[in-house]
This record gives sequence, C-alpha cells and structure tokens, in this order.
Amino acid sequence: MIEVQRVSKAFITRDAGTVYALKSVSVEIGSNEFFTLLGPSGCGKTTLLRLIGGFDRPTEGAIRIGALDVAGLPPQKRPVNTVFQSYALFPHMTVAENVAFGLDMQDWPEAEIAARVNETLQLVRLDGFAARKPSQLSGGQQQRVALARALAPKPSVLLLDEPLSALDLKLRKEMQTELKRLQRETGIAFILVTHDQEEALAMSDRIAVMRDGHILQVGSPREIYDNPNCRFVADFIGEANLIPGDLLGRSSSITVTVRPERISIRSGPNGKPARIEGVVSGVTFLGLDTLYEVALPQGMRLRARLRDSEDRFRHGDRVAVDWPDGVERQLAN
Ligand code: ATP
Repeated sequence: MIEVQRVSKAFITRDAGTVYALKSVSVEIGSNEFFTLLGPSGCGKTTLLRLIGGFDRPTEGAIRIGALDVAGLPPQKRPVNTVFQSYALFPHMTVAENVAFGLDMQDWPEAEIAARVNETLQLVRLDGFAARKPSQLSGGQQQRVALARALAPKPSVLLLDEPLSALDLKLRKEMQTELKRLQRETGIAFILVTHDQEEALAMSDRIAVMRDGHILQVGSPREIYDNPNCRFVADFIGEANLIPGDLLGRSSSITVTVRPERISIRSGPNGKPARIEGVVSGVTFLGLDTLYEVALPQGMRLRARLRDSEDRFRHGDRVAVDWPDGVERQLAN
C-alpha cells in the first residue's frame, strides 16, 4: 500500500513567487493496483509522481510505501523504480547491459544477474534482442527495454511518466495492452501519469482525476465515467453534454450531464412529445458511430452519438431529442 497523506509541494519561482503544485493531496494506492494520475497539463501529476519516486521532497505531508516512511530516502533506497517518457537508455550499452544496470548498482551476484536479465527480457518479450544496442531497436522495442530495466530489480512499485507519448497511435494501443499484462503478471503497483483520458480508462483499476494541485475524484474507470462528481470530471473524461437548469420548486441553478451515447434523436416534431426539439447542426462520421450536434433554442447545443446503422440525419434536419429517465447526472459546479 502506498499512502500519500496531506501532501503539499511549493516551488519558489522568480516570476510568479510561490507556486503550489500540490495542495494537501491525500490518496491510498493498493499494492497490486494499476493506478493512474490523470489531468491536464500543469495539474501536478508529475510532481506527485516525483515525490513518490523520491526525486523531490514534499513541502508538507507524509508518504509511506508499505510500512516504510520514505520521507528521507533517496530514490535508489526506495522500493520503487521509474520509467521515463524519454526511456533514458544508455546508448553505448547493449540491451542486456541496460537491463543489468540496476542489478549491478544493487550488487547482485553475477550469476543471478544473468538469470534475472533473461527472465525480464522474456517478460517483456524481447528475448533474442539481448546483444543489440538501443539504436538498433524500434521505438516500441526501446520502450520494452526501459520497462525491463525498471522491472529487473523487482521493485514493489513502478512509476510511469507518460511512457507511451512518444509512440504512434497503433503502437500506443498495443503497449497499453502490454503494460496491463505486465502489471498483472508482476503483481506490483503501477502508477501511471497521463493526460490521455482514453488511455486512463483503458488501463487503470482506478483513476485519480487531478486539477490545479488537487485530486477531484478517485474511482474505477466506470465509476468516474458513469458518476462524475463535478463538471470538470464530467467534461474531462469522455464526452459530456452539460445542461444548465433550475431545480424545480427551488431557485438554485444546477448543471446536469448526459453522455452523448445516451441521447437519441428522431425526425420530428411528429406529434409524439419529446424533451427538446432542435436542428442538426453538425454530423461527424466516426466509423462505428456517428456524432450529431443538435442546435437547441437559446443557443444551446447537444451532442448525440448514434450507431451508424440507425436512422441517419443531415445538416439542417429538424429533430426531436430524448434520453431515458435517470441517465442524467446532477453535478456540483
Ligand atoms: P504536464 O502534463 O504538463 O507534465 P503536470 O500535471 O505533470 O503537467 P507538474 O509538472 O506537476 O504538472 O507541474 C505542476 C505545477 O507546478 C505547474 O504549474 C508547474 O509550472 C509547477 N512546477 C513544476 N515543477 C516546478 C519547478 N521545478 N519549479 C517551479 N514550478 C514548478
């Protein structure tokens, strides 16, 4: 278990004075969880990862890994290893030497190093590449070497800072599956930093959504997608229609959200009552689905995502917009 308790991190800058990158953040991460820190640029996710890794010290608060208070420990004394975005492989060393590096540093016996290097290269499916130099590998293979190097010393936590961002889309999807498999097979905690919500939904057991130095919500991908606790989370994860309204019988204004795939549209008006009527103002073909934008009275727009085999509509068509009762969620602003 990794415990982050009321951790704050302040940086002193010349131009902006004191900047709080983290503001009293608390979170608990399970010892064999795939956990993701998700948020826009500048929200503090890399800072939190660096504090867990020991590359920086918190201004306030405590971090424990297992029963160990790691506050005073440098990175190499923590049961943690990191895979950086840049891979940071040693270009003059072979794949095997790169993977052996951390084991050498920890004074593993020679024979055990050889065995562990083989085992780890098998784990990342790179057996047969041991004698190559990094320059003789593809981007995806270099990424696997970086993973092998970080996993070889058997850390109990692996930190991953945007590890897939240098890869093209197809390879990135492949490596998402691969990272998930590695996490399951090693049974250790993976803590991933990303600003890519699709990546977070696809890989994580749980996600912490961050903004402006705070964690706004922690939950499984489905919990976060189905029950976002505020506007920001609803809008950041997947697509969301945000609909302003007034609570009936009270004067307070609220926002409700409905996911585009929950919304149906049909030709209208044709006598049947509908929630709202509007005019199709945008059509985007997505392959399996088509995304329709519908202009409503008072300048509002809603998006509806329909299976492409269903009715098709064109720009300018008048339509009736509906959704089943109960799929909308009320949000705190
Ligand atoms: P990105 O996705 O762009 O990497 P992030 O969510 O990882 O963003 P952080 O790198 O953690 O964000 O930065 C959080 C805030 O702290 C930002 O406002 C950043 O400018 C500031 N910050 C980070 N490191 C430092 C530093 N060494 N000195 C001053 N300010 C810093």
